Amino acid sequence: MNFDVCIIGAGPIGICCAIEAKKNNLSYLIIDRGCLVNSLYNYPKNMTFFSTSDKLEIGDVPFISHNSKPTKSEALEYYRRVVSSWDLKINLYEEVTNIIKEENFEIKTSKGDYSAKKVIISTGFYDIPYKLEVPGEDLEKVKHYYDEPHPYFGMKVAVVGAANSAVDVALETYRKGAKEVTMIIREPSLSDSVKYWVKPDVENRIEEGSIKSYFNSNITKIEEDKIHLSTPDGDKVIDNDFVLAMTGYQPDFTFLKKLGIQLGDDDNKTPIHNPETMETNIEGIYLAGVICGGLKTNKWFIENSRDHAKIIFSHLK
Ligand SMILES: Cc1cc2nc3c(=O)[nH]c(=O)nc-3n(C[C@H](O)[C@H](O)[C@H](O)COP(=O)(O)OP(=O)(O)OC[C@H]3O[C@@H](n4cnc5c(N)ncnc54)[C@H](O)[C@@H]3O)c2cc1C
Repeated sequence: MNFDVCIIGAGPIGICCAIEAKKNNLSYLIIDRGCLVNSLYNYPKNMTFFSTSDKLEIGDVPFISHNSKPTKSEALEYYRRVVSSWDLKINLYEEVTNIIKEENFEIKTSKGDYSAKKVIISTGFYDIPYKLEVPGEDLEKVKHYYDEPHPYFGMKVAVVGAANSAVDVALETYRKGAKEVTMIIREPSLSDSVKYWVKPDVENRIEEGSIKSYFNSNITKIEEDKIHLSTPDGDKVIDNDFVLAMTGYQPDFTFLKKLGIQLGDDDNKTPIHNPETMETNIEGIYLAGVICGGLKTNKWFIENSRDHAKIIFSHLK
């Protein structure tokens, strides 16, 4: 129960850190509240990564996919293979609830206590969706995670959001037989971040009216069979079966603050850390992966944060 390093989060970057620990002959444990690569597991079933498979490789394990950009199931299989081939020590379905600094760090989880000299936080950002904060949001018909289009066949679907997830969901539900797809976008246009090869498709569907759209608009209330909108042309009520709120996700700042990790006063609440070592303001606690960007959740991704593990372990050495 005593380790040199405890890694919180078994996403691709947490796994990278465990591999570095192993390479450096340090004892380690990874703990994750969900399954292996839990965030990836919760991505839409038919998604394709925007990175080519070589850019998602970790631990010198080759990643060969059918096409240059892998699918979700190929990525899940790949990370399972990485963990098996490195024989990594991981406790799954165990949530880290607190970390207390004593002589070592005392790690409290939903299942027990551990002690480690150093801690790496690689908890990502995918566990906490931005809420719409409107009446009716807790109805079963409101989804903050989208899996696949089948449940929405023949249904009237409202997709909230203007970025990649919202666009992908609107196009997929439209193509797989949703009766009506309406995009509700609070901004005057789609996000600039929408993939350049997808943007013309959705723009053309909106233009021809196959996908309905309300720009500069918000949902104000959700009922079982309808939603209320505030639009530039006044308030509207439209028939609706499902609300797919693709409004993004945010890191668990409450958890970071509980550990004493300070957040920057910039717009992104960037957790304080030294980019040359990845150490936070708490000596011995490091950050790795997408969590390093705070609310700027598109700053770090697998491709460009794989190196965090090497930076941390060269500092630990
Ligand atoms: C649809 C989509 C497509 C993407 N495509 C790409 C791509 O093509 N290329 C690319 O490089 N990136 C891509 N990304 C981004 C990439 O998936 C993330 O940046 C990446 O998962 C970050 O890895 P991570 O290890 O930092 O965090 P995550 O993968 O989010 O892992 C964090 C882990 O921490 C666990 N956790 C959280 N809190 C606790 C706790 N208190 N106790 C225990 N465990 C906890 C979670 O369960 C989770 O398993 C995509 C993202 C999305 C949403």
